[in-house]
Amino acid sequence: MDVAIRQFVRGRAGNRCEYCRLPQAAAQYLTFHVEHILAQQHVNDDSIHNLALACPYCNRYKGPNLATVHPDSRELVRLFNPRTDVWADHFEFHGPLMVGRTPVGIATVILLKMNDVERVEMRAELLATGEF
Ligand SMILES: [Zn+2]
Repeated sequence: MDVAIRQFVRGRAGNRCEYCRLPQAAAQYLTFHVEHILAQQHVNDDSIHNLALACPYCNRYKGPNLATVHPDSRELVRLFNPRTDVWADHFEFHGPLMVGRTPVGIATVILLKMNDVERVEMRAELLATGEF
């Protein structure tokens, strides 16, 4: 992928993960990824409209997934799309915990393991130091 495209994606994201909002500056030991929102195995789209900045946690757990099963309804729910959805419509933070506000948000929080102990502890430390 072109360096200029990577830089554009990073800048557009404000150097934060577009899923969990982790700032790259607060996690400099982690390399954030420019990921395909609709994975290449589903569609061949390298355009900026299909790219997002993701921390290694979100990138790993999202993988090629486009949807997951909602835990209560057992219905298939699509994942959050940083290009077409507004983050604050679907998510909010309760302290260091990330909470889904919609079925899309709930499904994304679960599939991307947003509240794994390690991630919540990291957010709590960043909140304490004012970095998050
Ligand atoms: Zn993330």
